[in-house]
Amino acid sequence: MTDFTMEKHADGVAIITWDTVGKSMNVMNAQGFLDLEALVDDALADDAVKGIVITSGKEGSFAGGMDLKVIAKMKDDAGDDPARGLFDGVMGMHAILRKIERAGMDPKTNKGGKPIAAALPGTALGIGLEIPLACHRIFAADNPKAKIGLPEIMVGIFPGAGGTTRLVRKLGAIGAAPLLLEGKLNDPKRAKSAGVVDEVVPADELMDAARAWVLSEPTIVKPWDEKGYKMPGGAPYHPAGFMNFVGASAMVNGKTQGAFPAAKALLSAVYEGALVPFDTALKIEARWFTHVLLNPSSSAMIRSLFINKEALEKGANRPDVPDQRVKKVGVMGAGMMGAGIALVSAMAGMEVVLIDQKQEAADKGKSYTADYMDKGIKRGKATAAKKEEALNRITATTDYAALKGCDLIIEAVFEDPAVKAEVTRNVLKVVGDDCIFATNTSTLPITELAKASDKPEQFIGIHFFSPVEKMMLVEIIKGEQTGPRAVAKALDYVRQIRKTPIVVNDARFFYCNRCIIPYINEGIRMVAEGVAPALIDNAARQLGFPVGPLQLVDETSIDLGAKIARATKAAMGDAYPDAAVDEVIFWMEGEGRLGRKSNAGFFDYDEKGKRQGYWEGLVAKYPRAEEQPDLITVQHRLMFAQVLEAVRAFEEGVLEDIREGDVGAILAWGFAPWSGGPFSWLDILGTPYAAERCDALAEAFGPRFATPDLLREMAKKGQSFYGRFADAAAAA
Ligand code: NAD
Repeated sequence: MTDFTMEKHADGVAIITWDTVGKSMNVMNAQGFLDLEALVDDALADDAVKGIVITSGKEGSFAGGMDLKVIAKMKDDAGDDPARGLFDGVMGMHAILRKIERAGMDPKTNKGGKPIAAALPGTALGIGLEIPLACHRIFAADNPKAKIGLPEIMVGIFPGAGGTTRLVRKLGAIGAAPLLLEGKLNDPKRAKSAGVVDEVVPADELMDAARAWVLSEPTIVKPWDEKGYKMPGGAPYHPAGFMNFVGASAMVNGKTQGAFPAAKALLSAVYEGALVPFDTALKIEARWFTHVLLNPSSSAMIRSLFINKEALEKGANRPDVPDQRVKKVGVMGAGMMGAGIALVSAMAGMEVVLIDQKQEAADKGKSYTADYMDKGIKRGKATAAKKEEALNRITATTDYAALKGCDLIIEAVFEDPAVKAEVTRNVLKVVGDDCIFATNTSTLPITELAKASDKPEQFIGIHFFSPVEKMMLVEIIKGEQTGPRAVAKALDYVRQIRKTPIVVNDARFFYCNRCIIPYINEGIRMVAEGVAPALIDNAARQLGFPVGPLQLVDETSIDLGAKIARATKAAMGDAYPDAAVDEVIFWMEGEGRLGRKSNAGFFDYDEKGKRQGYWEGLVAKYPRAEEQPDLITVQHRLMFAQVLEAVRAFEEGVLEDIREGDVGAILAWGFAPWSGGPFSWLDILGTPYAAERCDALAEAFGPRFATPDLLREMAKKGQSFYGRFADAAAAA
């Protein structure tokens, strides 16, 4: 069985069908390329064939992309010279796609050749769009659910099978920018207006339209293979083009802060490629692509954001328990979190009961869904009918009796153990024996809260991040007595709402907040030491964090930080390590500078709430130290503060799987995505160097940087986290 087959029809059209064996969507592998080439060779050589249509055997999709494991293998197979192996492999792909594009034309006169159309029944991503871009015309079925685009940049690479070079030559640098630099995906109609596909036709006319075009004796020479080709919008040394490229360079560096090697390499490939003929441009693209693939960042990003994220979503750590999909969910508390949880649950097709103390509060929570859908309708992403459907699924009430029949409860009332216990007891009086009870607490131990239930094995933490509808991670927390069915229920629910789960054990702040808090605290400590606030936040942004620690506290609010600090201090007593941090935040709280919500925090805000510069009072209170630390020291303090907490969480068994630690960190708080996550970052540094740095930081800044035993041991043995733990995790 091969993934590509060909049928030659009597009208002279050869149809090549891509149908990856054993997969629901086509993915390209090394053999697939060779099979495709052999069929194209055959059709081009056969006088009875007038033209070719390349399509998919999968209903509703053309292809999901490249099997990214192939790239890893190309690198491994190349032995001592991985760069050569990768470059040759990539040039091999270019040769096949160029063969499709030239289709047997005379190289000098551009005469002859056979038309080749791509017929896309639906989704076409990555290589699934790069092949069509090499064809002479792209037909897409009018399938509004289909996504068409080049999302490579999202996993730390860029389109390296000609997609970059062809799209820029087809659309110009400005037209191609959002598609390449942001990995923007479009439905077929939008893909047509963007100029990516050529025609959108009703699904049942797709093949006829493509065949008719192939038989119409069309012109098939690509504009860039014609004499006198000019790039739309201008090449770099054209006056208009010059402005574009200068602007693009500034924009990319502004957005990525130079932290993402793929974005920079992509831009270089585009710029340099625009200065030379097409075939040389492909070579340049291949060079930069190889460069990116050799950067450890790209393998780490692919591993965390593609392979492991998908594995977790598919239930890598799900207990072996029958299907626990949720039908009716009760959401307790219709505040900020409850309203968001009701929204995502209703959107996933569940029946939702949304309860608050007063009917107005419950209604207000439900109106969050209405507002969200209205915004979607305005942007053409939702319809009035979809809004109706979602709203009809939500019952907003104060009446606990409505919870009857719920198979999952998610509690999101005030963060107060007594209130939560009362709500738990009252809910359990109404729901059936099988119902799983989940709490969305962000700070209270699950094992303690479970005491309010007579079935602690059916009690679990499902910790969302705010805003619920935007944040892709959900942290599932097992209490001491939480049973496998509760874990499976939580995982199945998270899958239904299409988010990514991690499963951790119960401990103070679970996993994510446990790492975020030291990040914020390290930033605040530096303020107290007289480090310039801009240096602190910019150091973080240049590491790829979406916001620096001081800006983050302003967003989440200083009084919340102070509240958590007081509670932690009360719980830890003399062992509490953060007095230096408290001094700053308690003082800020006393000054009424509570962050964005009070229009005053580490930053000043104007009357409209727009962030201005850092508040001058900060420097007045904590004068700037004469000698400022270097950037790397600031960055290492911020990174190790989080990463060591992740290692301790793993050492203590709070985290059971390093993959969850890495994926969770990127999705929950935007931990330097280019690194692949805390454990991947340690592997990039190498554990011996990481341990050395910790020793130096501990000596200079205190025992919070002390090298954890596990890291010390791994450093001595020269081990990496993925080398030592990944197989065990993958087998789990
Ligand atoms: P919120 O104050 O916005 O909402 C709480 C809601 O619960 C209010 O509408 C309140 O009227 C309602 N409520 C209180 N007691 C109730 C009762 N006895 N019965 C029914 N409803 C009751 O708070 P929030 O920010 O939505 O947080 C809710 C929970 O989610 C807390 O446990 C919090 O720690 C957790 N959490 C919050 C965030 C966040 O970023 N805000 C993130 C993760 C988790």
